[in-house]
Amino acid sequence: MKKPVIAIDGFSSTGKSSISKIIAQKLDLVHLDTGALYRGVTWFALQNCCKEDGNVDLDDLFNNFHHIHLEFKNIENELVLFLNEINITKEIRSNQVTENVSNVAKQAKVREFLLDHQRKLAEKGGIIMDGRDIGTVVLPDADFKFFLTASIDERTKRRYQELLTLGIDANEDQVKQNLIERDKIDSEREVAPLKQADDAIVIDNTEMTKKETIEKILNYVENF
Ligand code: C5P
Repeated sequence: MKKPVIAIDGFSSTGKSSISKIIAQKLDLVHLDTGALYRGVTWFALQNCCKEDGNVDLDDLFNNFHHIHLEFKNIENELVLFLNEINITKEIRSNQVTENVSNVAKQAKVREFLLDHQRKLAEKGGIIMDGRDIGTVVLPDADFKFFLTASIDERTKRRYQELLTLGIDANEDQVKQNLIERDKIDSEREVAPLKQADDAIVIDNTEMTKKETIEKILNYVENF
Protein backbone atom coordinates (compact mmCIF):
# COMPACT_ATOMS: atom_id res chain seq x y z
CA MET A 1 0.00 0.00 0.00
CA LYS A 2 1.39 3.42 -0.95
CA LYS A 3 2.02 5.71 1.97
CA PRO A 4 1.36 9.46 1.81
CA VAL A 5 3.74 12.39 1.59
CA ILE A 6 2.61 15.07 4.04
CA ALA A 7 3.86 18.66 4.22
CA ILE A 8 3.38 20.66 7.43
CA ASP A 9 4.33 24.32 7.30
CA GLY A 10 3.60 27.25 9.53
CA PHE A 11 4.80 29.84 12.00
CA SER A 12 7.37 29.16 14.71
CA SER A 13 6.11 27.28 17.77
CA THR A 14 2.78 26.18 16.35
CA GLY A 15 3.70 22.62 17.31
CA LYS A 16 4.66 21.50 13.80
CA SER A 17 7.47 19.16 14.84
CA SER A 18 5.96 17.55 17.89
CA ILE A 19 2.66 17.04 16.05
CA SER A 20 4.42 15.61 12.98
CA LYS A 21 6.39 13.22 15.17
CA ILE A 22 3.23 11.72 16.67
CA ILE A 23 1.46 11.48 13.30
CA ALA A 24 4.54 9.71 11.90
CA GLN A 25 4.34 7.14 14.69
CA LYS A 26 0.62 6.58 14.19
CA LEU A 27 0.85 6.18 10.39
CA ASP A 28 4.28 4.52 10.32
CA LEU A 29 5.88 7.34 8.34
CA VAL A 30 9.35 8.85 8.51
CA HIS A 31 9.38 12.28 10.15
CA LEU A 32 11.79 14.96 8.97
CA ASP A 33 12.11 18.16 11.00
CA THR A 34 13.68 20.43 8.35
CA GLY A 35 14.17 23.26 10.86
CA ALA A 36 16.77 21.01 12.51
CA LEU A 37 18.79 21.01 9.26
CA TYR A 38 18.84 24.83 9.13
CA ARG A 39 19.75 24.86 12.80
CA GLY A 40 22.54 22.32 12.09
CA VAL A 41 24.07 24.54 9.39
CA THR A 42 23.80 27.52 11.75
CA TRP A 43 25.56 25.61 14.53
CA PHE A 44 28.36 24.68 12.12
CA ALA A 45 28.68 28.34 11.07
CA LEU A 46 28.82 29.57 14.66
CA GLN A 47 31.57 27.07 15.45
CA ASN A 48 33.64 27.46 12.31
CA CYS A 49 32.75 30.55 10.29
CA CYS A 50 32.52 33.51 12.65
CA LYS A 51 33.88 37.01 12.24
CA GLU A 52 35.71 38.70 15.11
CA ASP A 53 32.50 40.47 16.15
CA GLY A 54 30.82 37.07 16.62
CA ASN A 55 28.58 37.34 13.55
CA VAL A 56 28.49 34.58 10.97
CA ASP A 57 30.83 35.11 8.01
CA LEU A 58 28.47 33.99 5.25
CA ASP A 59 31.10 33.74 2.49
CA ASP A 60 33.23 31.56 4.72
CA LEU A 61 30.17 29.38 5.36
CA PHE A 62 29.39 29.06 1.62
CA ASN A 63 33.01 28.01 0.98
CA ASN A 64 32.76 25.32 3.62
CA PHE A 65 29.56 23.51 2.66
CA HIS A 66 31.68 20.51 1.64
CA HIS A 67 32.71 20.15 5.29
CA ILE A 68 29.11 19.86 6.46
CA HIS A 69 27.70 16.36 6.69
CA LEU A 70 24.27 16.32 8.34
CA GLU A 71 22.60 13.01 9.03
CA PHE A 72 19.59 11.86 11.02
CA LYS A 73 20.19 8.58 12.87
CA ASN A 74 17.41 6.53 14.35
CA ILE A 75 18.22 6.08 18.02
CA GLU A 76 15.58 4.32 20.11
CA ASN A 77 12.92 5.49 17.63
CA GLU A 78 14.03 9.12 17.80
CA LEU A 79 15.61 10.79 14.79
CA VAL A 80 18.77 12.35 16.18
CA LEU A 81 20.74 14.91 14.16
CA PHE A 82 24.48 14.35 13.74
CA LEU A 83 26.88 16.90 12.29
CA ASN A 84 30.05 15.20 11.06
CA GLU A 85 29.29 12.19 13.29
CA ILE A 86 28.71 14.34 16.41
CA ASN A 87 25.29 14.37 18.08
CA ILE A 88 24.12 18.02 18.03
CA THR A 89 20.55 17.58 19.29
CA LYS A 90 21.07 19.81 22.30
CA GLU A 91 23.28 22.42 20.59
CA ILE A 92 20.76 23.19 17.84
CA ARG A 93 18.16 24.25 20.44
CA SER A 94 20.51 26.76 22.12
CA ASN A 95 19.58 30.45 22.24
CA GLN A 96 22.63 31.30 20.13
CA VAL A 97 21.42 29.09 17.28
CA THR A 98 17.81 30.29 17.62
CA GLU A 99 18.94 33.91 17.39
CA ASN A 100 21.00 33.34 14.22
CA VAL A 101 19.13 30.66 12.30
CA SER A 102 16.74 32.84 10.29
CA ASN A 103 19.54 35.01 8.93
CA VAL A 104 21.41 31.89 7.82
CA ALA A 105 18.23 30.27 6.43
CA LYS A 106 17.36 33.28 4.28
CA GLN A 107 20.52 32.81 2.19
CA ALA A 108 19.73 31.35 -1.23
CA LYS A 109 22.93 29.28 -1.18
CA VAL A 110 22.03 27.69 2.14
CA ARG A 111 18.54 26.79 0.89
CA GLU A 112 19.96 25.31 -2.29
CA PHE A 113 22.50 23.29 -0.27
CA LEU A 114 19.70 21.69 1.79
CA LEU A 115 17.07 21.31 -0.95
CA ASP A 116 18.29 18.10 -2.62
CA HIS A 117 18.87 16.48 0.73
CA GLN A 118 15.22 17.07 1.69
CA ARG A 119 13.79 15.97 -1.66
CA LYS A 120 15.83 12.76 -1.72
CA LEU A 121 14.45 11.76 1.64
CA ALA A 122 10.91 12.10 0.27
CA GLU A 123 11.45 10.14 -2.96
CA LYS A 124 10.14 6.84 -1.61
CA GLY A 125 7.01 8.40 -0.08
CA GLY A 126 5.84 7.59 3.44
CA ILE A 127 7.15 10.81 4.95
CA ILE A 128 5.89 13.76 6.96
CA MET A 129 8.11 16.82 6.62
CA ASP A 130 7.70 19.98 8.64
CA GLY A 131 9.16 23.41 7.94
CA ARG A 132 8.35 26.71 6.27
CA ASP A 133 8.51 26.01 2.52
CA ILE A 134 7.68 22.31 2.25
CA GLY A 135 4.28 22.64 0.55
CA THR A 136 5.39 25.56 -1.64
CA VAL A 137 8.95 24.65 -2.71
CA VAL A 138 10.39 21.40 -1.38
CA LEU A 139 7.44 19.08 -2.02
CA PRO A 140 4.88 20.98 -4.14
CA ASP A 141 3.28 17.64 -5.14
CA ALA A 142 2.76 16.41 -1.57
CA ASP A 143 -0.43 14.39 -1.08
CA PHE A 144 -1.46 16.58 1.86
CA LYS A 145 -0.43 20.08 2.85
CA PHE A 146 -1.23 21.69 6.16
CA PHE A 147 -0.41 25.19 7.37
CA LEU A 148 -0.40 25.74 11.13
CA THR A 149 -0.89 29.05 12.82
CA ALA A 150 -1.69 30.35 16.33
CA SER A 151 -1.69 33.68 18.16
CA ILE A 152 1.68 35.15 19.13
CA ASP A 153 0.84 35.01 22.85
CA GLU A 154 -0.11 31.35 22.72
CA ARG A 155 3.03 30.50 20.74
CA THR A 156 5.20 32.42 23.20
CA LYS A 157 3.70 30.46 26.08
CA ARG A 158 4.39 27.13 24.34
CA ARG A 159 7.96 28.00 23.34
CA TYR A 160 8.76 29.32 26.83
CA GLN A 161 7.51 26.09 28.41
CA GLU A 162 9.46 24.02 25.89
CA LEU A 163 12.70 25.85 26.72
CA LEU A 164 12.16 25.37 30.44
CA THR A 165 11.57 21.67 29.85
CA LEU A 166 14.82 21.47 27.87
CA GLY A 167 16.63 23.16 30.77
CA ILE A 168 17.45 26.25 28.67
CA ASP A 169 17.43 29.69 30.35
CA ALA A 170 14.52 31.73 29.03
CA ASN A 171 12.82 35.07 29.43
CA GLU A 172 9.25 35.22 28.18
CA ASP A 173 9.59 38.66 26.64
CA GLN A 174 12.75 37.71 24.74
CA VAL A 175 11.07 34.51 23.54
CA LYS A 176 8.20 36.59 22.14
CA GLN A 177 10.56 39.05 20.41
CA ASN A 178 12.55 36.19 18.87
CA LEU A 179 9.37 34.58 17.50
CA ILE A 180 8.21 37.88 16.00
CA GLU A 181 11.62 38.54 14.48
CA ARG A 182 12.04 35.03 13.04
CA ASP A 183 8.52 35.06 11.55
CA LYS A 184 9.29 38.43 9.94
CA ILE A 185 12.62 37.34 8.43
CA ASP A 186 11.15 33.97 7.35
CA SER A 187 8.09 35.60 5.71
CA GLU A 188 9.92 38.44 4.01
CA ARG A 189 12.94 36.64 2.57
CA GLU A 190 13.27 36.51 -1.22
CA VAL A 191 13.86 32.79 -1.59
CA ALA A 192 11.23 30.30 -0.44
CA PRO A 193 9.51 32.58 2.10
CA LEU A 194 7.24 31.21 4.79
CA LYS A 195 3.79 31.22 3.23
CA GLN A 196 0.74 29.10 2.94
CA ALA A 197 0.54 27.00 -0.26
CA ASP A 198 -2.64 27.78 -2.24
CA ASP A 199 -3.83 24.20 -1.73
CA ALA A 200 -2.89 23.92 1.96
CA ILE A 201 -5.42 23.24 4.70
CA VAL A 202 -5.04 25.99 7.32
CA ILE A 203 -5.36 25.08 10.98
CA ASP A 204 -5.37 27.82 13.61
CA ASN A 205 -4.65 25.90 16.80
CA THR A 206 -4.65 28.82 19.26
CA GLU A 207 -7.61 27.29 21.07
CA MET A 208 -6.80 23.67 20.32
CA THR A 209 -4.75 21.14 22.26
CA LYS A 210 -1.98 19.23 20.56
CA LYS A 211 -4.20 16.13 20.61
CA GLU A 212 -7.03 18.00 18.86
CA THR A 213 -4.69 19.30 16.16
CA ILE A 214 -3.38 15.78 15.56
CA GLU A 215 -6.91 14.38 15.32
CA LYS A 216 -7.91 17.06 12.84
CA ILE A 217 -4.95 16.25 10.59
CA LEU A 218 -5.55 12.51 10.92
CA ASN A 219 -9.17 12.97 9.84
CA TYR A 220 -7.94 14.27 6.50
CA VAL A 221 -5.14 11.76 6.06
CA GLU A 222 -6.55 8.49 7.31
CA ASN A 223 -8.63 7.77 4.21
CA PHE A 224 -5.62 8.06 1.92
O1 C5P B 1 11.25 24.83 12.82
P1 C5P B 1 12.31 25.62 13.57
O2 C5P B 1 11.74 26.71 14.41
O3 C5P B 1 13.27 24.75 14.31
O4 C5P B 1 13.14 26.32 12.40
C1 C5P B 1 14.21 27.20 12.68
C2 C5P B 1 14.40 28.18 11.56
O5 C5P B 1 14.83 27.49 10.38
C3 C5P B 1 13.16 28.94 11.10
O6 C5P B 1 12.89 30.09 11.88
C4 C5P B 1 13.52 29.31 9.67
O7 C5P B 1 14.35 30.45 9.64
C5 C5P B 1 14.35 28.12 9.22
N1 C5P B 1 13.61 27.17 8.41
C6 C5P B 1 13.42 27.47 7.07
N2 C5P B 1 12.80 26.57 6.26
C7 C5P B 1 12.36 25.40 6.72
C8 C5P B 1 12.52 25.08 8.10
C9 C5P B 1 13.11 26.01 8.92
O8 C5P B 1 13.80 28.54 6.63
N3 C5P B 1 11.79 24.52 5.88
